[in-house]
Amino acid sequence: MAYTRPLPQPDAQTRGFWDGCRAGELRVLRCEDCGTWIHEPAPICHACQSERLDWRPVSGQGQVYSWTVVHHAPGPGFQDEVPYTVAWIELDEQPGLRILSNVVDHPPEQVHAGMRVRVAFREATEDVRLPVFRPA
Ligand SMILES: [Zn+2]
Repeated sequence: MAYTRPLPQPDAQTRGFWDGCRAGELRVLRCEDCGTWIHEPAPICHACQSERLDWRPVSGQGQVYSWTVVHHAPGPGFQDEVPYTVAWIELDEQPGLRILSNVVDHPPEQVHAGMRVRVAFREATEDVRLPVFRPA
Protein backbone atom coordinates (compact mmCIF):
# COMPACT_ATOMS: atom_id res chain seq x y z
CA MET A 1 0.00 0.00 0.00
CA ALA A 2 1.31 3.44 -0.92
CA TYR A 3 2.61 5.60 1.89
CA THR A 4 0.30 8.61 2.17
CA ARG A 5 1.54 10.41 5.29
CA PRO A 6 3.83 13.45 5.10
CA LEU A 7 7.44 12.63 4.32
CA PRO A 8 10.56 14.37 5.64
CA GLN A 9 11.99 17.07 3.40
CA PRO A 10 15.75 16.87 4.03
CA ASP A 11 17.72 20.09 3.69
CA ALA A 12 21.40 20.94 4.11
CA GLN A 13 21.04 20.89 7.90
CA THR A 14 19.11 17.61 8.23
CA ARG A 15 20.32 15.54 5.28
CA GLY A 16 22.91 13.67 7.37
CA PHE A 17 20.20 12.48 9.74
CA TRP A 18 17.95 11.16 6.95
CA ASP A 19 20.88 9.62 5.06
CA GLY A 20 21.69 7.71 8.24
CA CYS A 21 18.12 6.46 8.59
CA ARG A 22 18.15 5.28 5.01
CA ALA A 23 21.33 3.32 5.84
CA GLY A 24 19.68 1.83 8.93
CA GLU A 25 21.77 3.93 11.32
CA LEU A 26 20.66 6.59 13.81
CA ARG A 27 23.10 9.49 13.41
CA VAL A 28 23.34 12.59 15.55
CA LEU A 29 25.51 15.69 15.11
CA ARG A 30 28.52 15.69 17.41
CA CYS A 31 30.80 18.62 18.20
CA GLU A 32 34.36 17.79 17.18
CA ASP A 33 35.74 20.25 19.73
CA CYS A 34 33.85 19.54 22.96
CA GLY A 35 32.09 16.24 22.24
CA THR A 36 28.54 17.52 22.81
CA TRP A 37 25.80 15.67 20.93
CA ILE A 38 23.33 18.02 19.22
CA HIS A 39 19.74 17.29 18.22
CA GLU A 40 17.76 18.94 16.60
CA PRO A 41 20.47 19.59 14.02
CA ALA A 42 21.98 23.09 14.31
CA PRO A 43 24.74 24.94 12.47
CA ILE A 44 26.85 25.48 15.60
CA CYS A 45 27.45 23.71 18.91
CA HIS A 46 25.23 25.20 21.60
CA ALA A 47 27.83 24.37 24.27
CA CYS A 48 31.00 25.91 22.75
CA GLN A 49 29.84 27.67 19.53
CA SER A 50 32.13 25.50 17.40
CA GLU A 51 31.13 25.00 13.78
CA ARG A 52 33.10 21.74 13.59
CA LEU A 53 30.15 19.33 13.75
CA ASP A 54 30.00 15.86 12.25
CA TRP A 55 27.35 13.17 11.89
CA ARG A 56 28.12 10.21 14.12
CA PRO A 57 26.19 6.99 14.75
CA VAL A 58 24.66 6.55 18.19
CA SER A 59 23.66 3.32 19.92
CA GLY A 60 19.97 3.85 19.19
CA GLN A 61 19.20 2.95 22.79
CA GLY A 62 17.45 5.15 25.29
CA GLN A 63 14.36 5.63 27.37
CA VAL A 64 10.98 7.27 27.12
CA TYR A 65 11.21 10.77 28.59
CA SER A 66 7.64 11.90 27.88
CA TRP A 67 4.84 10.76 25.58
CA THR A 68 1.31 11.24 24.40
CA VAL A 69 -1.17 8.94 22.69
CA VAL A 70 -2.83 10.17 19.51
CA HIS A 71 -6.43 8.92 19.20
CA HIS A 72 -7.72 11.10 16.36
CA ALA A 73 -6.01 10.89 12.99
CA PRO A 74 -4.32 14.28 12.42
CA GLY A 75 -4.63 14.02 8.65
CA PRO A 76 -4.88 11.75 5.63
CA GLY A 77 -2.93 8.53 5.92
CA PHE A 78 -3.13 8.26 9.72
CA GLN A 79 -6.55 6.59 10.01
CA ASP A 80 -5.04 3.11 10.15
CA GLU A 81 -2.41 4.15 12.71
CA VAL A 82 -4.52 5.45 15.61
CA PRO A 83 -4.14 5.05 18.47
CA TYR A 84 -0.36 5.57 18.34
CA THR A 85 2.31 6.89 20.68
CA VAL A 86 4.39 10.02 20.07
CA ALA A 87 7.30 10.21 22.47
CA TRP A 88 10.42 12.12 23.38
CA ILE A 89 13.16 9.50 23.59
CA GLU A 90 16.20 10.42 25.66
CA LEU A 91 19.20 8.74 24.08
CA ASP A 92 21.79 7.04 26.28
CA GLU A 93 24.66 9.08 24.84
CA GLN A 94 23.94 12.26 26.79
CA PRO A 95 21.45 13.57 29.38
CA GLY A 96 18.92 15.80 27.63
CA LEU A 97 19.69 14.42 24.16
CA ARG A 98 16.15 13.76 22.97
CA ILE A 99 14.54 12.77 19.72
CA LEU A 100 10.84 13.03 18.91
CA SER A 101 9.60 9.75 17.51
CA ASN A 102 7.03 6.98 17.91
CA VAL A 103 6.96 4.00 20.26
CA VAL A 104 5.72 1.03 18.21
CA ASP A 105 4.97 -2.64 18.77
CA HIS A 106 3.78 -1.85 22.28
CA PRO A 107 0.28 -1.02 23.62
CA PRO A 108 0.06 2.79 23.96
CA GLU A 109 -1.55 2.50 27.42
CA GLN A 110 1.50 0.60 28.66
CA VAL A 111 4.12 3.17 27.62
CA HIS A 112 5.72 4.79 30.66
CA ALA A 113 8.50 7.21 31.59
CA GLY A 114 11.83 5.46 31.83
CA MET A 115 10.75 2.60 29.57
CA ARG A 116 13.80 1.22 27.76
CA VAL A 117 13.61 1.41 23.99
CA ARG A 118 15.76 0.79 20.94
CA VAL A 119 15.59 2.36 17.49
CA ALA A 120 14.19 0.56 14.47
CA PHE A 121 13.54 1.85 10.98
CA ARG A 122 10.29 1.74 9.04
CA GLU A 123 10.36 1.91 5.30
CA ALA A 124 8.05 4.70 4.12
CA THR A 125 9.15 4.74 0.49
CA GLU A 126 12.01 3.24 -1.47
CA ASP A 127 14.23 6.16 -0.41
CA VAL A 128 12.88 7.08 3.01
CA ARG A 129 13.16 5.14 6.25
CA LEU A 130 11.72 6.65 9.43
CA PRO A 131 13.20 6.05 12.89
CA VAL A 132 10.79 4.55 15.45
CA PHE A 133 11.45 2.97 18.84
CA ARG A 134 10.52 -0.48 20.13
CA PRO A 135 10.70 -1.90 23.64
CA ALA A 136 14.31 -2.95 24.29
ZN1 LIG B 1 31.11 22.08 21.24
